[in-house]
Amino acid sequence: MTTYGRLPVAFTHGEGAWLWDEGGRRYLDGLAGVAVNGLGHAHPAIVETICAQARRLIHVSNWYENREQQTLAERLCAVAGMDRVFFANSGAEANEAALKLARLHGRRKGVEAPAVIVMEGSFHGRTLGTLSASGSRKVQAGFEPLVPGFRRVPFNDLDAVRQVGARDQTVVAVLVEPILGEGGIQVPDAGYLKGLRKICDEAGWLLILDEIQTGLCRSGAWFAWQHEQARPDVMTVAKALGNGLPIGACLAHGTAAELFHPGQHGSTFGGNPLAAAVGRTVIETLEGMRAWERAAALGQGLLNGLRERLHDTAGVKAVRGRGLLLGIELDRPAHAVMRLALNRGLLLNVTAERVVRLLPPLILSDEEARLLTSGTADAIQEFLAS
Ligand SMILES: *Cc1c(COP(=O)(O)O)cnc(C)c1O
Repeated sequence: MTTYGRLPVAFTHGEGAWLWDEGGRRYLDGLAGVAVNGLGHAHPAIVETICAQARRLIHVSNWYENREQQTLAERLCAVAGMDRVFFANSGAEANEAALKLARLHGRRKGVEAPAVIVMEGSFHGRTLGTLSASGSRKVQAGFEPLVPGFRRVPFNDLDAVRQVGARDQTVVAVLVEPILGEGGIQVPDAGYLKGLRKICDEAGWLLILDEIQTGLCRSGAWFAWQHEQARPDVMTVAKALGNGLPIGACLAHGTAAELFHPGQHGSTFGGNPLAAAVGRTVIETLEGMRAWERAAALGQGLLNGLRERLHDTAGVKAVRGRGLLLGIELDRPAHAVMRLALNRGLLLNVTAERVVRLLPPLILSDEEARLLTSGTADAIQEFLAS
């Protein structure tokens, strides 16, 4: 169905940060499948894990013990500081699990119709529940009636959260991205997440962080909340966890980890041995390369380089980001930049209409980072001059 406006190129294979099209032309991947291919394309450890696990066992029902899933759960909880995890197949599904936890938490407190505070400009997925939670009319329009139980406030505004909580006794949780991804790489002020943590503690609400885009080292820490030690009660991850194999996870800490009982939630495919084995390899590989440090250093270099190239370019409003989540905000709709970049052999993306977005793989070399900087700046300057 016509759900995407596709660019006119088809890739046949990839290696590291590079993709090749049907004509044999090579492209530097500055998008990594939207923050999915953190370890790049055809990473030997991932390929090896897929082949070896596929030969042994791809799927068993969640009615049976699953050692690969248990091992991944332990690894993931260890790096995330969480206690338990539910495995799904996508980000939206992981967020659905988190929203169900919020409702169970509310019921347990005696709230009949529990509500969750969500943010303007946020993106949480395309299911009815997660599109209702998202703060984008584009995502919601045409799909009403929306799922009820959301209270929307501006992002990066602690007072707005406090005010809603003071007037509305049905609020039981806050759901937020640590950095708005689809919303245009909006980095909140230092202390925002910590402030939300404090508000949630005082009110007895769950703090739910959507780390689907920010997580797994991309922001320069394993998870973006670790920059200010604002540990959530519930956290969702997906995208990079399978490096392209579909897998999502909803993690929980403390009492939130004990809310689900058998029969209340489930997934046929979720956490199957193949996806789980790959997830484990992803975590071990990120650990082995100290990917959080690499992402922080690469990100700072890209940010500096892009600012140097673009600071006096008319039409560039801001160059911002954290780690390998980078956005260049222009003063006009910028979709055409994608095609200009493609012509230059570079893959990047535009989100929130005006923000050119870079989410390159974490295995980028210094030389590739320089190419990404110059190619992006060239494409933007060509666009703005046209
Ligand atoms: C991509 C994304 C989702 C949705 O994930 P899917 O796997 O496409 O369902 C949810 N939240 C954030 C922050 C995302 O970036």
